[in-house]
Amino acid sequence: MNFARKINKNSEINSDKGALACIYENGDCDKMSLYKSIKEKAWEANMQLPASGLVVHTFGNVSAFEEKHSCFAIKPSGVPYNILKPEDMIIVDLEGKIVSGKLRPSSDTKTHCVLYKNFPGINGICHTHSTYAVAWAQAMQPIPILGTTHADHLATDVPCTEVMTDQSIRGDYEEETGKQILQAFNKLSYNEVEMVLVAGHGPFTWGASAEKAVYNSIVLEELAKMAILTLQVSPGSTRLKEALIKKHYDRKHGSNAYYGQK
Ligand SMILES: [Zn+2]
Repeated sequence: MNFARKINKNSEINSDKGALACIYENGDCDKMSLYKSIKEKAWEANMQLPASGLVVHTFGNVSAFEEKHSCFAIKPSGVPYNILKPEDMIIVDLEGKIVSGKLRPSSDTKTHCVLYKNFPGINGICHTHSTYAVAWAQAMQPIPILGTTHADHLATDVPCTEVMTDQSIRGDYEEETGKQILQAFNKLSYNEVEMVLVAGHGPFTWGASAEKAVYNSIVLEELAKMAILTLQVSPGSTRLKEALIKKHYDRKHGSNAYYGQK
């Protein structure tokens, strides 16, 4: 696979021991402070998940990417949110190898790796099993763009991946999940559509920061809920007319955007 993100190789990532050695040897612990900073960002973003009602138990995970050393901080696997601490976050490189941290990283880490490698510019990824988004993912259907709330955020349906083949399921499952997402973006811009449903599983969202990735998960859940309710009220509801989609998307995202304060 060709990796689209330019991976920074001029600075090898130290192990915890190596990074500590740098404290004593030259006092310049750029990496340690960067690790600490992205661990805090990842922790804060992860803690927004139970607070926003998007997850229960240990469901979900958020990661925060650090461009300079091409690594990211992610939630440890299976640790409940009420005891999760910033220092529990795990730092991994883009191959999923642990470079700092004592716990096992989220089991979805390799999916995050695939997205960071192939979607340059994104600095945060969020995965949840939020109820309404999962309902669409389980129905294996994209979320149709039915109203202006949806069009305020993206000008297309929320895409849904193809169902994974048996061969992919037996293979490197989490990496294959990432590849399913890439496939869904063959003809879509990941900068304009920062969310996807993995068929039979659930949503992944991303953005310029971990916080933005969580924001997008909250938006996605609302869009999923509104679409289901709309189709309950009127099963024959159709796609919002193109002029309204364009008006709402462009006033927030176009070159002449005028929504919000300057
Ligand atoms: Zn999942």
